[in-house]
Amino acid sequence: MHGDMKDKGLATQAIHAGEGPDPVSGASAPALHMSSTFVTDQVAGFSAHDLEEEAPFLYGRWANPNVRTLETKISMLEGTEDCVCLASGMAAATAIFLTFLSAGDHVIVSDVSYAGVAELARDTLPRMGIEVSTVNMSDLDAVSAAMRPNTRLIHTETPVNPIGRLTDLAAVAAIAHAGGALLSCDATFASPLGQPSKALGVDLIMHSVTKYIGGHGDAIGGAVAGRKELIEKIRNESAIHHGSIMSPFNAWLIARGMATLPLRMKAHQAGAMAVAEWLESRQAVTRVTYPGLKSHPQHDLAQRQMTNTSGMITFQVGDRATGEAFAQKMIEKLQIVHYAVSLGHHRSLIFWMGTDALMETSFRLEGAQLDSYRDYAGDGVFRLSVGLEDPADLIADLEQVL
Ligand SMILES: *Cc1c(COP(=O)(O)O)cnc(C)c1O
Repeated sequence: MHGDMKDKGLATQAIHAGEGPDPVSGASAPALHMSSTFVTDQVAGFSAHDLEEEAPFLYGRWANPNVRTLETKISMLEGTEDCVCLASGMAAATAIFLTFLSAGDHVIVSDVSYAGVAELARDTLPRMGIEVSTVNMSDLDAVSAAMRPNTRLIHTETPVNPIGRLTDLAAVAAIAHAGGALLSCDATFASPLGQPSKALGVDLIMHSVTKYIGGHGDAIGGAVAGRKELIEKIRNESAIHHGSIMSPFNAWLIARGMATLPLRMKAHQAGAMAVAEWLESRQAVTRVTYPGLKSHPQHDLAQRQMTNTSGMITFQVGDRATGEAFAQKMIEKLQIVHYAVSLGHHRSLIFWMGTDALMETSFRLEGAQLDSYRDYAGDGVFRLSVGLEDPADLIADLEQVL
């Protein structure tokens, strides 16, 4: 694309990488290219395998200028060779599993993951003949013990949705690589600013760009960043063959949002710190989990690994009935914070995540794994995505309830 942004700062890269003034009109902002096909001077070439190194745009399922702009921005911020954008975060997770796993292979997945990923790993992968182990990724001995000769992939998520537990990425990468497996990490909570995933050894960095990268709650999308050879495989399988491409309009919206990501992450972190400290001072609140707080059980790891502690807080108010009662009060009283799922938007969002319900549907943990979950989440947590409003206004809004 235009200009070499490799030696520039993150804020400059987020704005300028992958785009430039329109050569025909001089437009400073990128045009939206909704064209499904592109006029070509190539006589033939009709297979994903015919794609050339810097292939011109041919057909929208292969590549699109707006999607390419977003992919360039994300790979620039992650410091990877390439990136592929797909229809949703779930499409990105599915792409990783279905591209790198075949019948007879084994995958280790974090026992707490985004609910859709947990259910996909448990319900769909075994149906394809793929062996799945779910492991507490903060327990390195358990990760080592789960490795098998046919382990091809470890998939983790840090900080993990919804409880904010962390994975030591460098340590898990060492275990994966010693066993000849790839490490993929769902870095949605952290955003590209939250941790140097590639430097820590992650091979496939996954994002739901619906969240921080888009940042405005108006477009769904997903991304995987990594080495060119790995991303090419995903592009061939998931975009070109499975067809789970991102729409150009979503790419245009998300790239516009991403231009301010470095600035927004600073504000999310500052706002979350203020709200987390206030929550810790409230009598109704029995426990706050935020990687920026000294009270986080893995605060040392957070300090070592995270370059921005992001805007995701979880907090507890007591048992299930108490949590549900507070949730009801929030639905009735909150004026600024929206009671809704999703996260990473400029608007603050809060949602109750009951432990019993999540165990029945998504996680089904038992024994030591359930104990570890309850250590972080008790009978349930409020997941609060601190937006970009004035922290004082957020605190005043929450004070009506807490
Ligand atoms: C939202 C989310 C996903 C799924 O992303 P969609 O864009 O909704 O498909 C995956 N992982 C995490 C951590 C998420 O928060």
